[in-house]
Amino acid sequence: MFDTLLIANRGEIACRVIRTAKAMGLRTVAVHSDVDAMAAHVAMADVAVSLGGASPAESYLRGEAIIAAALDVGAQAIHPGYGFLSENPDFVEAVEAAGLVFVGPSARAIRAMGLKDAAKRLMDEAGVPIVPGYLGKDQEPSRLEVEAAAIGYPVLIKAVAGGGGKGMRLVEAPGDFVDALERAKAEARTAFGNDAVLIEKYIQQPRHIEVQVFGDGQRAVHLFERDCSLQRRHQKVIEEAPAPGMTPEMRAAMGAAAVRAAEAIGYKGAGTVEFIVDGSGGLRPDGFWFMEMNTRLQVEHPVTEMVTGVDLVEWQLRVAGGEALPCGQDELTLTGHAFEARLYAEDVPAGFLPATGRLTALSFPEGVRADSGVRAGDEISPHYDPMIAKVIVHGPTRSVALRQLARGLAQTQVAGTVTNLAFLGALAGHKGFARGEVDTGLIARDLDALTASAGDAPLARAQAALVATGLWENATPETGFALWAPLARQVRLAEGDEEYVITLRVHSPDRVEIDAISAERRGGRWYLDGTAAADVSISGDVITVFAGFGRAYRVVDLLARDAAAEAGGGLTLAPMPGRVVSVHVHAGQAVEAGDRLAVLEAMKMEHTLTAARDGVIAEVLVREGDQVEAGAPLIQLEEEEEAAA
Ligand code: ADP
Ligand code: ADP
Ligand code: MG
Repeated sequence: MFDTLLIANRGEIACRVIRTAKAMGLRTVAVHSDVDAMAAHVAMADVAVSLGGASPAESYLRGEAIIAAALDVGAQAIHPGYGFLSENPDFVEAVEAAGLVFVGPSARAIRAMGLKDAAKRLMDEAGVPIVPGYLGKDQEPSRLEVEAAAIGYPVLIKAVAGGGGKGMRLVEAPGDFVDALERAKAEARTAFGNDAVLIEKYIQQPRHIEVQVFGDGQRAVHLFERDCSLQRRHQKVIEEAPAPGMTPEMRAAMGAAAVRAAEAIGYKGAGTVEFIVDGSGGLRPDGFWFMEMNTRLQVEHPVTEMVTGVDLVEWQLRVAGGEALPCGQDELTLTGHAFEARLYAEDVPAGFLPATGRLTALSFPEGVRADSGVRAGDEISPHYDPMIAKVIVHGPTRSVALRQLARGLAQTQVAGTVTNLAFLGALAGHKGFARGEVDTGLIARDLDALTASAGDAPLARAQAALVATGLWENATPETGFALWAPLARQVRLAEGDEEYVITLRVHSPDRVEIDAISAERRGGRWYLDGTAAADVSISGDVITVFAGFGRAYRVVDLLARDAAAEAGGGLTLAPMPGRVVSVHVHAGQAVEAGDRLAVLEAMKMEHTLTAARDGVIAEVLVREGDQVEAGAPLIQLEEEEEAAA
């Protein structure tokens, strides 16, 4: 067996592989792009090699550079993770030609499954049921249209080279066919450089059920199924094992078909055989059809690990090292139920747009397995997949596991970017999902309810106001109460497009009325209307209150607003109580609108105060280090000349 492993990937899967490799006593080598120089997977590995660049093409897709790195540092094996080079047969051949071990199947097996049409033909010959459809070479639109009619609408057009849901179009009626075909082909050409398509019968009320297989090049076993029906636009969102409603007969039939598929191509390593299942009349042993095989470790492999107790990466490394299958089919058992939810940096209200940003907080509760490739402080960059983590749970039954998932998501704390956490939480609480009524259309049907804004949150907002005014932590008489003793003050907070002006009445450092809510501190902890306050995270001018999947409030700089509103404002006031960190101007100095005047700090938040208009500084009323009250005058501009108006 090799003793040094290079991981040709990044993010959570690189971290996942490194974890097991280390546990097996291997030396680990990370590769990274320039933007990933400080990434988690680099920190975890024993050795790191820079590939340069930022985009995948300049870094993680540079097969030759990766092989050179392996040879250079003495790695004897390469694990490709998923995505990037994992299903590239030319890369496998290059790795082997360099005398290294590729942790995965042979180039031949990958090629056999690389194109959906050829794979389906091969599976048909091996006796695996396939979705009825047209797999022919003739790609004339008129021919394809005839075939579609023969299959019967609705039909699905798929790019034979497709993946990740790209190049796929559902056609409901003959009149839409030509247009859909053109668009599927155009998408396939751009994404895969191959615009050949196949046509399939569209299965009504489809469920996506896949079988985890594992081979040693000769024999294969299956590790039961995963249900991945909870999808948005053909992308998996929550996966589970086993599949709800699965019967022993159907499991045996699907498992046997998947093992036939793997053995037909001499499969080595971990792979997934994806089936489409007709969910309209319950699960039947003759109601599943082969869609495609993914010749790699899958994103959702952890749910299988949880219900089987197998570490799939350990198996991959052992078999790649020359061992035979670690166990036989009858030694594999299924225990309990597992879920995985994919946490992404994405803007759900904006249509699930990928988002970026620096994570200012990231933590998961006890009792969940969180597979992540980022830590608090790390950046979600625009160059790669914006997945933050996979939240994985395992319980004795489906309903217990689903409750664990709901709780795990509710207690996940993430700040610094928008995420789909609330959407995942809504899914975990979906009634139909709880009853096991899953199909690939569930999310689209209930999208409005699943993405509905959480509505008003007066308690969280009141808490944010407490933080924004510095009252949250401020206890000591010198810096605290004496400073803002009898005050009523206002703070303006924005949540999304909504703006709120909140009035706080301070009765004592431990008792504040916030609009109609009374906040009290007992034993060092705040209670709002009797409810214990949530955790908070502050970054820049954004306060995240970890209630209801995290609510982010931006402190609107009252002064900047008011100054802008009255345009002529010559006096800069403190927008909040705090300490003057720095003063950047002196009397007599000419400034332009927007120039930095001073920086004020409160509760780790820094506010830069800028000039509201062009002018000359008349007077600076504070010095560095001064503590000031909200509304205190800081800097005065000379009066504007009448003539200028
Ligand atoms: P899974 O079933 O494991 O979720 P996906 O299809 O979502 O599989 O793909 C997993 C990873 O592989 C993702 O990072 C995705 O971006 C990448 N991927 C899948 N297919 C392709 C492809 N044809 N080209 C490039 N990347 C792909
Ligand atoms: P990809 O390579 O992009 O993953 P797949 O062939 O695996 O493409 O299909 C992706 C998803 O599209 C499936 O998980 C399923 O939701 C849907 N799908 C695929 N084929 C069919 C079909 N024949 N009928 C209904 N839905 C399908
Ligand atoms: Mg697929």
